[in-house]
Amino acid sequence: MTVKTRFAPSPTGYLHVGGARTALYSWLFAKSQGGEFVLRIEDTDLERNSQEAVDAILEGMQWLGLEWNEGPYFQTQRFDRYNEMVDKLLAEDKAYKCYASKELLDEVRAEQEANKEMPRYDADHPKIKAVNEAAKEGDPCVIRFRNPKSGSVVFDDQIRGRIEISNSQMDDLIIRRTDGSPTYNFCVVVDDWDMGITHVIRGEDHINNTPRQINIYEALGAPVPTFAHCAMILGDDGAKLSKRHGAVSVMQYRDMGYLPVALNNYLVRLGWSHGDQEIFSQEEMINLFSLNAISKSASAFNTDKLLWLNNHYIKTSEPEYVAEHLQWHLDQKGINKDNGPAITEVIKLVGERCNTLVELADQIAYFYQDFDAFDADAAKKHLRGVAKEPLELALAKAEALTEWTTENLHQVIADVCAELEIGMGKIGMPLRVAVTGGGQSPSVDAVMQLIGKERVVARIKMALAFIAEREANAQ
Ligand code: GLU
Repeated sequence: MTVKTRFAPSPTGYLHVGGARTALYSWLFAKSQGGEFVLRIEDTDLERNSQEAVDAILEGMQWLGLEWNEGPYFQTQRFDRYNEMVDKLLAEDKAYKCYASKELLDEVRAEQEANKEMPRYDADHPKIKAVNEAAKEGDPCVIRFRNPKSGSVVFDDQIRGRIEISNSQMDDLIIRRTDGSPTYNFCVVVDDWDMGITHVIRGEDHINNTPRQINIYEALGAPVPTFAHCAMILGDDGAKLSKRHGAVSVMQYRDMGYLPVALNNYLVRLGWSHGDQEIFSQEEMINLFSLNAISKSASAFNTDKLLWLNNHYIKTSEPEYVAEHLQWHLDQKGINKDNGPAITEVIKLVGERCNTLVELADQIAYFYQDFDAFDADAAKKHLRGVAKEPLELALAKAEALTEWTTENLHQVIADVCAELEIGMGKIGMPLRVAVTGGGQSPSVDAVMQLIGKERVVARIKMALAFIAEREANAQ
């Protein structure tokens, strides 16, 4: 049997990290079993759902690279099918019409509470029975599922182990409302059945729905899938992860400069482990993933670890991959990568110094954009009178180079030091400030090589003009 999993978000907002982790686990499990992954949008709550939220979910899934084999399906397009199944249960007397008004249900509930009984819908309550017997065809009614009265539902949760719930704890669930719309627990079952879902991996907030849903599968004569309920994600203070802990939307992580591989690696470890391994390539994740290695207990979000992973992936990923994701940030900052050296070469040189793509974009601007001022602190410290002679000599030697290579530029700096009998710092730092505009960069010879001769020459001249002006002002 082909394994088939699904991710079934309700489009009430953006794709948040909890949902993304559930999606990732479902996707990984399908991949690990050579199976298929379905995306289904559970959009029956017309008041809370929106097209923007659907778009945001699709965007988040695509950004994470969680491609679906089927879908997206939309529940709102399947009402005929749900109604067909409600009618089937009605015809088989596995569901029935209930005409009890809200007032009557409230009254029965109050009575149960007064008698210290568990408040629940009770089809055998004399008042409800009387209403249902007296009703005429066409009176407004809901359809209720006839939940078994005795016995219990047992299932073997792949994460939490054996779970048993007595049927006496469950009442007859409404499966179609008075307005004719089918309800959530019913739609999910029909969908999972129709879509051939073999494994339902979802948040533990759904665990109470599972026994009810299992009874519905059985009533429909549908095979019951295997279930796995994932524990919650907590913030670093131990409370349920929410907006006040910072970013919770997947796309916010894109905006903050994370690579999708880093977020996926982070999310997979947030509740799943393989020994003490922290870094997993996508292929390793797929090969090693298993449901029973998912933790039963909640996991706490740790931003430092995510940053560390992001740095790892910026450093070690193919520069083409980093470039693909850096592009969005370059666009945000108006940096045109065609106006300078090959972006992949710049990434190779600067990437390892950065924890995020936002930092990377900031740190590489000088390769692509000319500046009209030096960083004030760096200039104050390094573009002083003493730097004039070394910079002039470096300029002359650089201009004379016929081959603009890192080795030759390294030699230029070494020759300046030797000829003027000065230490490396006396030329290295002024040169760095001159060509990058600031005091921080990778090795200055490699930086100059990538920036290119024309720009380097112009920038050293600009630094010399700055020094001259500063000297003039000082007199
Ligand atoms: N639509 C549900 C939610 O967003 C998920 C239902 C399920 O996975 O069974 O929480």
